[in-house]
Amino acid sequence: MTYTTGNQPETTDIIIIGGGVIGASIAYSLCKYELTVILLEKQSDVALGATRANSGIVHAGYDPPPGSLMARLNVEGAAMMETVCKDLDVLYFKCGSLLVASGEKEDAVVRDLYARGIQNGVEGLEVLSGDEARQHEPALTAGITSALYAPSAGIVNPWELCIGLSEVFIRCGGKVMLNSEVTAIERSGDGFLVRTSSGSYLAKRVINAAGLYSDTVHRMVAEDDFSIIPSRGEYFLLDKNQGSAVNGVIFGCPTPDTKGVLIARTVHGNMIVGPSSESIADKDDTATTAAKLDEIRSRASQLMPSINFRDNIRNYSGIRANPSTKEFIIREVPSVPGFFEAAGIKSPGLAASIAIGRHMTGLLKASGLLLIQKQSVRDNPALLRRTIVRFSRMSPESKKALVASDSRYGRIVCRCETVTEGEVLDAIHSPIPARTIDAVKRRTAAGLGRCQGGFCGPRIASLLASELAILPTEILQDKPGSYIFTGPTKDIELTTSATQTKKVSI
Ligand SMILES: Cc1cc2nc3c(=O)[nH]c(=O)nc-3n(C[C@H](O)[C@H](O)[C@H](O)COP(=O)(O)OP(=O)(O)OC[C@H]3O[C@@H](n4cnc5c(N)ncnc54)[C@H](O)[C@@H]3O)c2cc1C
Repeated sequence: MTYTTGNQPETTDIIIIGGGVIGASIAYSLCKYELTVILLEKQSDVALGATRANSGIVHAGYDPPPGSLMARLNVEGAAMMETVCKDLDVLYFKCGSLLVASGEKEDAVVRDLYARGIQNGVEGLEVLSGDEARQHEPALTAGITSALYAPSAGIVNPWELCIGLSEVFIRCGGKVMLNSEVTAIERSGDGFLVRTSSGSYLAKRVINAAGLYSDTVHRMVAEDDFSIIPSRGEYFLLDKNQGSAVNGVIFGCPTPDTKGVLIARTVHGNMIVGPSSESIADKDDTATTAAKLDEIRSRASQLMPSINFRDNIRNYSGIRANPSTKEFIIREVPSVPGFFEAAGIKSPGLAASIAIGRHMTGLLKASGLLLIQKQSVRDNPALLRRTIVRFSRMSPESKKALVASDSRYGRIVCRCETVTEGEVLDAIHSPIPARTIDAVKRRTAAGLGRCQGGFCGPRIASLLASELAILPTEILQDKPGSYIFTGPTKDIELTTSATQTKKVSI
């Protein structure tokens, strides 16, 4: 039982630090057991770290060194992804990947990676000729001489996965505390006192899943034995007319720093091209630069000359949490019993995420934690699943029935992605309520399309204002301070419910 007494710290069995896909997956894995678990996230939403900006590829697992934890968890995680995404209603497609080579040197890399993949236990791998590769991906250049085909690879929506895992955790009794930055951790009896920017917690066990800052959190309780080296990756996001030119995921041949530039279809049908790889000093510097984007464009054009970069609709970057150990650090810290971590979870962390959650649960069990299934989950296994309305993907008959039952699903807010007012309202009232324009985007896809929110942004702002009973000037694009309106320009009548309106200045 979790409780709060006055200013006393809240007591709980387990604290998870970090609401990225790794913290969320651990929370999801634990939520079926008789435990009190609180997830602390310093930002205003989950999925705002590396989980926000990555390639979204469920790697097959031929790349990590054989025998590494990374290799094992990648292959296991990729195999678990389809079922979990089905259970959580998360967009995932098992589209397969091609790693393409030009010339003898790169052909040798393809053969090496094939052998490595076999050692890692990746199923279905094949070495293809250039012509066979072009049958999979007709837009590939004639210069491709061979390719490694991995049918078990896929694409997933990383934000949705993180949000889905977190929502199920909450449905099963877990707590997510946003805007709660862990600032100190102290030993307290046989547990820990965890201090945050919003209050304190007493926990028997603490799990550090703080991504780029997992080294900082580690140093709050233990000797410094690893560091996180930030590495930025920049991307192009191209319109759907380019997305249709690619069937799955295409990787260029890897270099020592990166898996090689990739060209992939996204779950929404766009094309992403990237990422670059650049060590940076500031862990939060998600800028994009002309130099890196030029580099990506030229490398991708060598693989697929027909890509029209004029159809670029957005550039973005994400920061990798590269561990100094070059291996996932998933352990109970030997010098601090009860303090666990999943640190330095660089790529293929997304692909491995579900297996990492399960692996961490195994470590907790090995440390003596009793795992007894919750009665509520035993009585109602559906608690572990979630469904959301996705109007654009419904059949005409289902759309008709839905609109007849609730007219708000008949009002299209985002024309590019066909997102309805009903879906935006669902997001605003979801277990981790969307409070910003981008939080709505992460939950509904509104604003993801060609106009990048130019059309739907004001409408979503108006819905946020009316549902949250705040002024439009208080609405944020995403992060603290990202106000989108500077002040009122006129008076309007705002619809606050189906029957009521009020006058506000906007
Ligand atoms: C450019 C790029 C491309 C990638 N492509 C792929 C890919 O295609 N496939 C793949 O498998 N993997 C990929 N990855 C890796 C994948 O994105 C990561 O492994 C995964 O997102 C890591 O999740 P995480 O939860 O560890 O970290 P994060 O998502 O960064 O989450 C950590 C969270 O901890 C919070 N936090 C930090 N400090 C504190 C604190 N003191 N108190 C409270 N909260 C705190 C942060 O705000 C953050 O939300 C890529 C990564 C990048 C950057």
